[in-house]
Amino acid sequence: MANMKALVKKHPEKGIWLEEVPVPEYGNNDLLIKIKKTAICGTDLHIYKWDDWAQKTIKTPMVIGHEFVGEVVAKGVNVTGYQIGDRISGEGHIVCGLCRSCLAGIRHLCPNTIGVGVNRDGCFAEYLSLPASNGWHLHPSIPSEIAAFFDPFGNSVHTVLSFDMVGEDVIITGAGPIGIMAVAICKHIGARNVVITDINDYRLDLARRMGATRAINVTKTTIKECIDELEMIGFDIGLEMSGSAQAFESMLESMYHGGRIALLGILPPSAQIDWNQVIFKGLFLKGIYGREMFETWYKMQAMLQSGLDISPVLTHKFPFEDFQKGFDVMESGQCGKVVLEFE
Ligand code: NAD
Ligand code: ZN
Repeated sequence: MANMKALVKKHPEKGIWLEEVPVPEYGNNDLLIKIKKTAICGTDLHIYKWDDWAQKTIKTPMVIGHEFVGEVVAKGVNVTGYQIGDRISGEGHIVCGLCRSCLAGIRHLCPNTIGVGVNRDGCFAEYLSLPASNGWHLHPSIPSEIAAFFDPFGNSVHTVLSFDMVGEDVIITGAGPIGIMAVAICKHIGARNVVITDINDYRLDLARRMGATRAINVTKTTIKECIDELEMIGFDIGLEMSGSAQAFESMLESMYHGGRIALLGILPPSAQIDWNQVIFKGLFLKGIYGREMFETWYKMQAMLQSGLDISPVLTHKFPFEDFQKGFDVMESGQCGKVVLEFE
């Protein structure tokens, strides 16, 4: 069997290794995809750094990565709807198809999800094998370098579309790539003020370029000052996209009564909140995992076709072999999305 290049989490320690591994096999219902571009996710950085979560979750050796754009080069005998040569991205959550959620068509709520590049081999490789039911056909108008990070774009779109945004005042905590994209999406669909917080000025600058009303460094100014300046009482909608307990706490304090909050950032188990904020303000909290299959994907593509521009979030592109540069810049935090390219 032929071999291919892949980034393998080989050893249970910090790092990622470029290795020769066999091209993956594909089953009767699968696509074999030749990867053109991939993007590095925060999850990949956790795996790279080998933090507590990664140690508990990842079984070495494993090809990691789940954000990609590629071309169908082979398909199983049962596959319909795909032709050799189709340009696709794909959903990295492989669902069971049998549970209550799957049967109801709300597959993002499947409790038996398997993660590409987390629980099975991923896309930081020349080839990826993926169930055809996880593929997404890309419209020709979508540039491949944007399609490479449809996965986190989907997290962002799914979170933002959780609530009616028209005319609302929104606070986003965390200007990582997902928070930065959320700024542009909120503005695109009609929010009034979109305020984003972080502790990283490079990322706050990107958020301003995406149309943030205010992008504030919470180590220098307070959200309260911003609320006063914008002549508001509090925010109608909160999108927690930092994973910081402190940021979530500050969001709760700055919400208007009856406000709605979506929680995407993965808060530590130790995170404590002032429940009085939730109860006496009558706040509504929604947890977010992944993205809807495939209604979110549809909206992502449709919004790009109707003028949503997320391109400023893409700050770095490297040839695949220069992956170490990509992981280094991810680790520094001085970046938006980082794409690794085969072509
Ligand atoms: P990221 O780590 O790149 O961004 C998080 C940002 O939060 C960073 O820029 C960091 O500087 C900022 N931050 C840290 N402390 C802060 C504070 N006190 N106030 C404001 N900002 C602060 O992550 P990302 O890739 O943009 O993803 C955002 C979050 O969503 C992460 O927690 C990630 O793990 C999580 N995530 C969840 C899902 C899901 O399905 N629920 C999917 C993808 C990512
Ligand atoms: Zn299921």
